[in-house]
Amino acid sequence: MDSVELKKEVFGSKDASSLVDKLRATFAGGKTKIYEWRVAQLKCLMKMINDHETDIIDALRSDLSKPVTEAFVSELAMVKSSIDFTLKGLKHWMKSEKVKSTITTFPSSAEIMPEPLGVVLVISAWNYPFYLSLDPVIGAISAGNAVVLKPSEISPSTSSLFAKLLPEYIDTTAIQVVEGGVPETSALLEQRWDKIFYTGNGKVARVVMTAAAKYLTPVTLELGGKCPVFIDSDVNLKVTTRRLIGGKWGLNNGQACISADHVITTKDFAPKLIESLKHELEKFFGKDPMESEDISRIVNLNHFHRLKKLLDDDKLSGKIVHGGQTDEKKLKIAPTILLDVPDDALVMNEEIFGPLLPIVTVETLEQGFEALRSKEKPLAAYLFTNNKKLKEEFLTKVSAGGLLINDIALHLANPYLPFGGVGESGIGGYHGKFSFDTFSHKKAVLSRSFIGDASARYPPYTPGKLKLLRALLSGSFIGIIRALFGL
Ligand code: NAD
Repeated sequence: MDSVELKKEVFGSKDASSLVDKLRATFAGGKTKIYEWRVAQLKCLMKMINDHETDIIDALRSDLSKPVTEAFVSELAMVKSSIDFTLKGLKHWMKSEKVKSTITTFPSSAEIMPEPLGVVLVISAWNYPFYLSLDPVIGAISAGNAVVLKPSEISPSTSSLFAKLLPEYIDTTAIQVVEGGVPETSALLEQRWDKIFYTGNGKVARVVMTAAAKYLTPVTLELGGKCPVFIDSDVNLKVTTRRLIGGKWGLNNGQACISADHVITTKDFAPKLIESLKHELEKFFGKDPMESEDISRIVNLNHFHRLKKLLDDDKLSGKIVHGGQTDEKKLKIAPTILLDVPDDALVMNEEIFGPLLPIVTVETLEQGFEALRSKEKPLAAYLFTNNKKLKEEFLTKVSAGGLLINDIALHLANPYLPFGGVGESGIGGYHGKFSFDTFSHKKAVLSRSFIGDASARYPPYTPGKLKLLRALLSGSFIGIIRALFGL
């Protein structure tokens, strides 16, 4: 099957339906389940990245003016290490896991057998358009599924690069790309899938989940939220500041689901932190950050206006302590720090997803932990401190998709940790083996032989049989002996 054949003016319901039928036929043929096929596809993905590194970096530059180093580290290298990790673990992951049997099923053997779900849909977001598209696809392939990738239309260069390159490298009878926006995604969502993996905002997640409900299709929803950064006074200020800058403006200029949304610190410490931020920001991005090549631009005019509206809010009058410059033509907004923003300011009531950083002051950080309980659970929460007791309080009191102490976003780079949200920040998780699990069904298998066919489980029921069953089910060895010998 050639993907060009599927690219028509408008990709509608009929196209989506025939695409799913074709992939279903491939899946039914069984080749996606074969270990060698999975490995071959993953290796082809790796080859595609190696052959086209410059094209991929150019696409990311065109979509977001992502600095080359950032594009390489946070997109290409992430995908490559995900492929490597999967290739190393896959044979083992695919094996059935032997588990114990119990007296109730004696004699028997029991195992958990992972099997692919079938034909799955991956809908991706624009901010890390390469990584967020391919990482779930790696999970889907590794688990033996056929898959359709729908990249984001908001990052059109990366999307069209996928449509061009993927068919040159991977098996298009099982893996397809569909480009497009709302109409194309809606056509896809009308179909029956065995899993939908969606990355994006909570509003569209509800559209996805509603569509999935029609066929009881399971979903993984990778969403966002307002990730707080708690900063104690007992820290290495320079390291904290550098990591905060890296985890805000160094992550796609704040356009990242796990970037620092706002800082919560104590009244006394805020001025020191702000001074340090100003100093290090200049070292990172120069005297005029609007001219820096080392910072991404805002993705498009819609998002620029969304951020401008947050910045122009009357409630922010006198609150900008650093930055604030904007350039609509270049879609640039400078790293901007806001201090003591009122709770009802727009910037405190939606995910910022951009270069504005409010600093909220509290009497104690413990109060900040408490205050978080009344808010939606974020995708990540961060704490900078040397204080052991404070760390413990943070770990037990704060609920978020993931927690990280003394850094920002880095938990995402550990494939031994699941990555995903909780509550409003998402459902399910992935990365490493968790990606394989997300796209697998864990089939329970119990095997018995024909021996040991205890008559106690069959009618006619007698008080003696009931006594024996009671003893068996309560695991009482003496009870079993008594029942067997009528004692
Ligand atoms: P987006 O605009 O790219 O949308 C995501 C996908 O949804 C796209 O493929 C788009 O075509 C599709 N879509 C949009 N409207 C639709 C509709 N009405 N019906 C069907 N499909 C539709 O991305 P976005 O939503 O702006 O992404 C930003 C959000 O995603 C933020 O909240 C961010 O925190 C979150 N995010 C989460 C993660 C994560 O891994 N948890 C990663 C990146 C972004």
